[in-house]
Amino acid sequence: MEKDRKLIIAGNWKMNKTVAESVDLVNGLKRELHGVKEVDVVICPPYTALSEVSKVMIESNLRLGAQNMSEHGPGAHTGEVCASLLKEFSVRYVILGHSERRQFQGENDALISRKARAAHAASLKPIVCVGETLADRESGRTEEVVRTQIEGSLAGLSADQMHDTVIAYEPVWAIGTGKTATTEQAQEVHAFIRKLLASLFDETVARKVRIQYGGSVKPGNARELMSQPDVDGALVGGASLEVRSFSDIIKLSV
Ligand code: PEP
Repeated sequence: MEKDRKLIIAGNWKMNKTVAESVDLVNGLKRELHGVKEVDVVICPPYTALSEVSKVMIESNLRLGAQNMSEHGPGAHTGEVCASLLKEFSVRYVILGHSERRQFQGENDALISRKARAAHAASLKPIVCVGETLADRESGRTEEVVRTQIEGSLAGLSADQMHDTVIAYEPVWAIGTGKTATTEQAQEVHAFIRKLLASLFDETVARKVRIQYGGSVKPGNARELMSQPDVDGALVGGASLEVRSFSDIIKLSV
């Protein structure tokens, strides 16, 4: 599948996997994905497993990501984890503004943009998540909602920083529900986001930024989704928790 943007497929393990289970899973992925160079593969374990997983990942083609980070630098922020602490484990990517954090931790676009700027200041690449709810879609507000999230969450980023920013379009109604957006629905919103990037930044940003699709991606639908012209990879939840399903998604996408 030829595209000028390199595919990026990330596994978001959410609040799953003990340290031992994490190490097993990464060892399995290393074996299965050895030699895969056409896709950037990012693994986002819970914070508690980052240290051990980073050791297992040394000399592999897998990259480490975190699921969230603080907008602040080191200091008095009980329970938070900042970019410099993540960097200790060779973390390269950080998921920001996942819909679960927007919904359950009350994260808003302004906070997400501060986190994105903090990530870039530490040379971490943010994966910024956006997506509409079912009610938004059914009331015809998908583009309006996605536009507001993109404008707010990317506010203050430069065009250069955007080259190292990934966007994940994740319709909330498709996350963990088994309902996937159709390829047409996904492509339509991805193309809309790309056009928006051209107007907010410039054509080069629009051409270069990778936009992942997320929401019940599995081996059975990965290839078709990623064959869409503006779909540059996937953010995978449930199916990233097992070696077979996650490695199949990757192999089927190249
Ligand atoms: C996610 O949490 O980002 C996600 C897309 O989950 P799932 O693949 O399980 O729908």
